[in-house]
Formats: sequence, C-alpha cells, structure tokens
Amino acid sequence: MNPDSDEGDDWTKYADTGYTSTYDPWADMVPITENEEEDEFDDDFDDLGDSNLRGRDIPRCPAPAGIEHTIQIGTCNHCLGRVAGVRIAGDPLDVVGERIRAQALERDPDLKVNADADCCPFCEDLFLDLDLIVNRISAEVEGVEFTKAQLGIHFSKDHVAAEEVLRSTIAATGSRPLKATLSEAVQSAFSEKSPGVTWVKEKPELMLLFDTLTLGVNADIRALFLYGRYRKLARGIPQTRWPCRACRGRDGGCESCNGTGQQYPHSIQSLVCEPMVDATNAASDAFHGMGREDIDVHCLGDGRPFVAELKSPLLRTIDLDKLTKKINKAAKGQIEIHGLRASNRAEVARIKETKAEKSYTIRFNCENTLSDEDITTRIQSLSGQVLEQQTPQRVAHRRADKIRKRKVVSIENILVEDNEVQFDVRCESGTYVKELVHSDEGRTNPSVSGVLEADCEVIWLDVKDIHAD
Ligand SMILES: [Zn+2]
Ligand SMILES: [Zn+2]
Repeated sequence: MNPDSDEGDDWTKYADTGYTSTYDPWADMVPITENEEEDEFDDDFDDLGDSNLRGRDIPRCPAPAGIEHTIQIGTCNHCLGRVAGVRIAGDPLDVVGERIRAQALERDPDLKVNADADCCPFCEDLFLDLDLIVNRISAEVEGVEFTKAQLGIHFSKDHVAAEEVLRSTIAATGSRPLKATLSEAVQSAFSEKSPGVTWVKEKPELMLLFDTLTLGVNADIRALFLYGRYRKLARGIPQTRWPCRACRGRDGGCESCNGTGQQYPHSIQSLVCEPMVDATNAASDAFHGMGREDIDVHCLGDGRPFVAELKSPLLRTIDLDKLTKKINKAAKGQIEIHGLRASNRAEVARIKETKAEKSYTIRFNCENTLSDEDITTRIQSLSGQVLEQQTPQRVAHRRADKIRKRKVVSIENILVEDNEVQFDVRCESGTYVKELVHSDEGRTNPSVSGVLEADCEVIWLDVKDIHAD
C-alpha cells in the first residue's frame, strides 16, 4: 500500500479497488490511545495537499480524533450530529452537532475548520438552506388544500456516491444516510410552519419533489376520486365527451359543432364533472363508468356506478350533498346522480373490471302473422339460452371481429301491442341487446328476429338496472 499513490485523489475508487480498508465496522472501537500514531500518519497525508480527503488511517467517529477530523473538513452541525455517532434522544441533529462541536473545542481550543473547506463535504450545505427549501415548498403549494404529503428528494448521482464514500470512511458506523436525514429535516421544518400536514410514504394528496441541484420544488397534486351512480333520463347523451367529428375539437370548434368542439352539447361526463371541477377548482376531469350504454339508451333503476376523477384539485373538502343537488338541478331531465362518496384509483380498476349482469327493457317493431300468444311463447323460449354474437357491424370499426357467448338470464313482462313488442331481459355483461332482437343480419344466434321468423326493428332500449353490488 502506497500512501502516495495517485489513487488517493479519487476516493470513489477506494471502495472498489480494495486499495485500503475504507470500511471498518470496528473502527469506532479503536482505543483512544492509538491517537498518537494516527496523528503522525495524518501529517504525511497532509503533504499530499488533500486535507479534505485524508483520513485513511484516522479512526472513525465517534473516536475524538475522528470527530476532530470531521469538524476540520467543514462538516455542518446537522451532518456532525448525523455522522458523529453520538445520539441524544429527542434532540434535533443540528443541536446534537452543535454540542459535539463545543465539546471538541473544549478538548482542543485550537481546533479549526480547514481554510480550504468551502462547504460541508457531506451535504454541500443543503442543511443550511432548510429555510429556503421550506419557503420554496410553501410558495409552490400556496392555495392547495392538502393534509397528506409525500416528499421526494433528488440528488445528483455524484453527490450520493461521494457522500457514501466519505461516510463509510470517517462516519460512525450506522450513521444515517443523507437523503433520509435531509428529508426528515425538511419535513419537520415544514410541519413546524404548517401544522396539520402529515407526511406519508404512500397515497399522498400532494407529492413534492425537491431537486438538490437547482433547489427547485415541484408539486404534483394527486387526483381526487368521487364514486356515485347516474341515471340517464334522456336519449342522445353520450357517456363521455365526444369531440366533433368534423374538427375533432381542435382550434375552438367549427361551424358544424357551433364552436363547441363537441359532437353533442352534453355528455354524462360534462354534466357530472363540470360542477365537480368548479367545486374543487380542478384542472381537468376523467370519467370512469361501469360499462356504458349507447347514446340513445336510457339508464334507469338504481343507475350506473361511476368514478369521477378530478385532476389537480385545489380543494378537497367539499359538501357532497350540496354538490349532488347542484349537479342534479343543472342536469334536470337529462341525468341525475346519487350516492356520491369518496373513492380512489383502485376503485376505478374495480368498476372497470366488474362484470355486472344488466336488465334492459326493449321495444321493437315486428310485422308477422303470429298470434300474440305465439309471439310471447317464442320470445320466452330465449330465456336461459346462450347467444353467439359476432361483433356487430355498428361497432366493427373499433372492435375485433370475433364471436362471443353471452347468456340470456331471464326474459319477462312480454307485451304485444299490434306490431309493437316490448319485453324485459336480464343478461350477462357485454351482451349486445339490440342485436339479440334484430339479429344483425344473422350475426347473433339465436335471436328474437330468428324465433319470430320476421324482421325486427328496435324502437328504443332502456337499461332497467345494473346488478352491481
Ligand atoms: Zn452538512
Ligand atoms: Zn367541430
């Protein structure tokens, strides 16, 4: 081992090359009587002009010589408290560090910080910027309502690596890493200023990211989710916003959409979410339904479950009853919602995956010579049958062409009035109900059209209920 080796300049190599024993778990057990030897060697090392990086044979903290060395290289009080290996329960790290420094000065009044130490070699003076960091966070979250926050801190890789080498060389074993310690310091300093904020490790309402290079703070306000059920009382309303076919909603709309950018003036999404966006001051919204009905289909009964997602909301505490009333009043005759409650992203997945059976009422035109009784019997014969449904022509442009099997659970309330027939049908999730009636030119089998041996034309279709929970 040659202390004059050039490798002495690059401490990151030490850990890899085994140039010397940089990590000694027993270092802090070294008897203090060895100090004399250490000091001699230090002098040699100083000759290299690399006083910041010396310490190869200096005992690690908490040996007094190790602490003195740590002070000499410009370590700040926070980091001194963190790496010196002297714990005093309950005291903040900077207070611990201050005390350790005072004790070291008592032992050696001539102890000085090296002239060439321009910042704390561990944290690069980040702990001295605590107030600035907290102020930047405060400015970034001004006007945002939140109680649960998570803090992420980004360091440059070089800084992390250099700090780890330094710590594994001169710090007491078991000293806490810089990142976790800085994170705690920022959190407690912020909490002191803004009580009522809980710092969490998952599911925050606010995600803060602090960059140690730029000292910049980025706040990501997590979405607010609200669960409810909607009933659709008017036809001609799509479930989600539907951009105008002509202009695709770009450039503020066109003539054919009256400058709205939308194919339809309203959607369930717009009727439900716009008042929510107003109430929460959100940036935008997304609408997640448990399936969807066609534009011209009512959705009645207890309604269809949905989760509204409000992105980047400034407010989270909202009066759900008041909001429900506001939505229902504004959308009177079109939709109504009920059962509004807090939800989360996991529930979005749940309602998207739920395969709920659904009941429909359907009315259609059919010209044939069968008696009312015969019509009823033939339609009833479909109850309990499994349909083979080839992807309908009306959706073939957006769905793969395949045959799916769906069960007709039950058929009831069959009504025959001249050429018009109506019945209630309960079937598996994903059944193409209009096709069950008109057969889609034979693509659905069996079908009402098939058993009646006549063309059937759907007049209207309602979702009578969704058997969700
Ligand atoms: Zn420091
Ligand atoms: Zn348009």
